[in-house]
Amino acid sequence: MPQYADFYRRSIEERDAFWAEQARLIDWHTPPQQVCDDSHPPFARWFVGGTTNLCHNAVDRHLKDRASQPALVAISTETDTERSYSFAELHAEVQRMAAVLRGLGVQKGDRVLIYMPMIAEAAFAMLACARIGALHSVVFGGFASGSLASRIEDAEPVAVVSADAGSRGGKVVPYKPLLDEAIQLSRHKPAAVLMVDRGLAPMALRAGRDHDWAALRARHLDTQVPCEWVDSTHPSYTLYTSGTTGKPKGVQRDTGGYAVALAASMKHIFDAEAGQTYFATSDIGWVVGHSYIIYGPLLAGMTTIMYEGLPTRPDAGVWWSIVEKYKVTHMFSAPTAVRVLKKQDPAYLARYDLSTLKALWLAGEPLDEPTAQWIAGALGRPVIDNYWQTETGWPILTLVNGVEKQAARFGSPGKAVYGYNVKLIDEATGEELRGANQKGVVAIEGPLPPGCMQTVWRDDARFVNTYWKSIPGRMVYSTFDWGIRDADGYFFILGRTDDVINVAGHRLGTREIEESIAAHPNIAEVAVVGVADALKGQVAMAFAVARDASGLVDEAARLKLEGEVMKQVDAQLGAVARPARVHFVTVLPKTRSGKLLRRALQAVAERRDPGDLTTMEDPAALQQVKDLVG
Ligand code: ATP
Ligand code: MG
Repeated sequence: MPQYADFYRRSIEERDAFWAEQARLIDWHTPPQQVCDDSHPPFARWFVGGTTNLCHNAVDRHLKDRASQPALVAISTETDTERSYSFAELHAEVQRMAAVLRGLGVQKGDRVLIYMPMIAEAAFAMLACARIGALHSVVFGGFASGSLASRIEDAEPVAVVSADAGSRGGKVVPYKPLLDEAIQLSRHKPAAVLMVDRGLAPMALRAGRDHDWAALRARHLDTQVPCEWVDSTHPSYTLYTSGTTGKPKGVQRDTGGYAVALAASMKHIFDAEAGQTYFATSDIGWVVGHSYIIYGPLLAGMTTIMYEGLPTRPDAGVWWSIVEKYKVTHMFSAPTAVRVLKKQDPAYLARYDLSTLKALWLAGEPLDEPTAQWIAGALGRPVIDNYWQTETGWPILTLVNGVEKQAARFGSPGKAVYGYNVKLIDEATGEELRGANQKGVVAIEGPLPPGCMQTVWRDDARFVNTYWKSIPGRMVYSTFDWGIRDADGYFFILGRTDDVINVAGHRLGTREIEESIAAHPNIAEVAVVGVADALKGQVAMAFAVARDASGLVDEAARLKLEGEVMKQVDAQLGAVARPARVHFVTVLPKTRSGKLLRRALQAVAERRDPGDLTTMEDPAALQQVKDLVG
């Protein structure tokens, strides 16, 4: 496949020429003078000397050709509303929000914390910040006051934008009491709080601090707020990682590099065109929401869909009805959501006309083969895995579709994406592993391409020490994921480096064992962790959810299934990988973004304190594990 191979090689070997070309995909107020300043590694400054604005590129730039095209469609199956904003309307709303934020004292470089449900005003707020050169710090609306307080303390926002309530599965979740409590808990006190009243929950406004969006908006119906031209390296936002492995890290992103990287990804990875429709089912609180609900699609002049609600309500066909109604061309979701749908009747998918859909992209966690096969079969469309991190902002590994259509391999998110000099490194020696199918840490040779994190917010030392100094003898960016690459350049992610299990000297990825267990027809989901063992150092322990648990009535039935599962692992991976126990639970502990919290599972399985659980979805999940391990 010479075509993509050449494209990739050029991105690495002729880095500056390659990215200078990509930089033409966006508007610059002042063109950059230098493509990449990497004179202070591992820091990289992209498009130095250039000035631009993310909001201009996402909104204003499209007014000439597509003012009346829908830019943002906000759909809520929680409140049964659908609101569509053309680029012209979005432009007006963003300026109103920008005027209100300015009125509340927000200036260039200030932070604005956005704690909101999936409503259009959240998008207005993000774009308004970009417009005036303020940094947004979006905090997932599902977080409670403790998580919110620590993020307020870290970001020190001048203002907070929030709403009276979110809603989940028909249940109203009031935000204002959580926000008030968080501000109470935080040492930093934001000067102003802007509240969007959806009429879902009563809320008390604190005089002098709290403001009503509708009232302030009414004063600025026609206020024009021109875009603030900022340096390419001016930070656009901070965002915290999911907290799967420890304390969330505040990722800081620039402006110009991010805009170029996303615009290039829309073209080369997604093969997207202006006028098409993008539906990412994530939340604005996560990186996918930033890059592929808000900025990426809008930069490309696409219509973007924002969805508030469950994938299964009013029924499991709701996403596909949206695809049909809005002629969605690109869809982005996560394996965890697909697994939820897989438990429902597949007839829901067959009911809708999905002919506009080009492909479904999935990211966030390993895409296991049964899940991939099921959704690909049900959709009759390519399902494209992509691997990346909050830190990188856009895919590191995938199949780059807009350059050359490439065949997928089940279990692999694909090849190194252009711009990323991906290496496999031996964790102990720092040596590069060049051969096929060798296991190593997935690492990126610096400088990181445009769009990736600039640093950890206000903590350069943490950026350097955490990401660039974890492997002895070699200054590379560690993803903290463990993987292999086959002879054709396809990577396979085997698990996080924290999760590698060392059984009597054999290093096993949790993912390998999980895949093997999940291939059993009666296993819906499984998590494998390494548990300390006096004899072997560590042994694998599995916690599984049965697809049909009705037969697991007694110990004998559970032992029978456990035996079958162990036999399967023996046959596929060898006895060394066989879990010491397979425990059956009804739910696995996950983060709010749907990732397995193996760290917490492992701690409980080793009867240790599970540590920081603020990003956990369902605390009851750990109780089952505690009860099982005694
Ligand atoms: P924290 O860094 O705070 O522990 P996190 O790593 O879960 O949290 P994210 O940035 O949301 O935070 O997730 C990135 C990680 O998710 C990757 O490093 C990888 O472990 C996993 N991941 C993402 N996409 C894929 C994929 N397609 N296949 C396998 N793993 C994936
Ligand atoms: Mg991470």
